[in-house]
Amino acid sequence: MSGHTTRAAHDPVAGEVGVDRFYGCTTGKIGWVSKAAAKRGLKQARRQGRHIKAVYLCKHCNGWHLTSQVPRTSPTSAVA
Ligand SMILES: [Zn+2]
Repeated sequence: MSGHTTRAAHDPVAGEVGVDRFYGCTTGKIGWVSKAAAKRGLKQARRQGRHIKAVYLCKHCNGWHLTSQVPRTSPTSAVA
């Protein structure tokens, strides 16, 4: 499977922090500044073969995280 495109800019990889992301959550996960940003991260993670099922708002850092489990507390965050 080849996902190469001709886009010039660098392609962010997992673990790299860009403008949409931040470290500092007590969970140790990368946080996303908004739900839209987290959904971009979700698509990117899926391209990398990770089984991300949903994004959710974190009560510790007030940012968003990706999860491979469907969170019971946020019924609206499941993404198709
Ligand atoms: Zn958090």
